[in-house]
Amino acid sequence: MIRYATSSSHVSVGAVHRMSPVDFWSASCEGKDPSRWRPAIAYPIFILNFHGLGRPPRDVSPDEEKFWIEAPFFEAILDLARGRSDVQLTFDDANESDYATALPALEARNLTGKFFIVMGSLGHHGYLSIRQLQALAAAGMGVGSHGMRHRRWTRLCAHDLNEELVEARYRLEQTVGLPVEDVACPFGSYNRHVLSCLRKLGYQRIYTSDGGPANLDAVVQARNTVLRRHNLGDIREVINSTPRGLKRAWRGLKQTLKRWR
Ligand SMILES: [Zn+2]
Repeated sequence: MIRYATSSSHVSVGAVHRMSPVDFWSASCEGKDPSRWRPAIAYPIFILNFHGLGRPPRDVSPDEEKFWIEAPFFEAILDLARGRSDVQLTFDDANESDYATALPALEARNLTGKFFIVMGSLGHHGYLSIRQLQALAAAGMGVGSHGMRHRRWTRLCAHDLNEELVEARYRLEQTVGLPVEDVACPFGSYNRHVLSCLRKLGYQRIYTSDGGPANLDAVVQARNTVLRRHNLGDIREVINSTPRGLKRAWRGLKQTLKRWR
């Protein structure tokens, strides 16, 4: 059992291997060479990432609307993913459609997904309620953190980063009653400092939005965002592709630069 402090109180967390946030924030975040966290792609997988499903339940900007896809399109994608152990499904932002649309469609096909939760959004109009989140976890779906307020972590001071990476995770663990070891960066935005902080806090998998295949064994997992403008042909292309030659080298270079920034 590890005892550590949040900003508000001392709490007990189950036997989860991680560094005390107090020790962590008094130490430097600069750490190991992030390029070592991505071994060569030995076991390629394809991660499809979804946001809203169906009609947005609130007024959304055109910028956000492009992330909302129709339910029949979503279900057709699930049919493609069926029987593909190398395709994984993730859901960001804690939209209510995670429970209302994604959960029954996944269960009907004996599939599972991983849901990345923005803690500060729970209970708000159009977002998951606490009970709905608990139902997702009880149904065997994965739950990871997407922070507290959906901010770009690369731009935050230590205090705000603590709220996003430590407090949000603690509250999420208390809500679902499970350790939270996976995290998805809002806006797919990360840099060396953010990756180093996440690793020191003991996160096991860090999900980005870099596109392309991911390595099953790597810490940093690239995801492919599914957008309203996509069609099934686009999705087929993603889950049947491997980056080769120049394209692969260019993609690798871009990711390495991002990690060292
Ligand atoms: Zn997000």
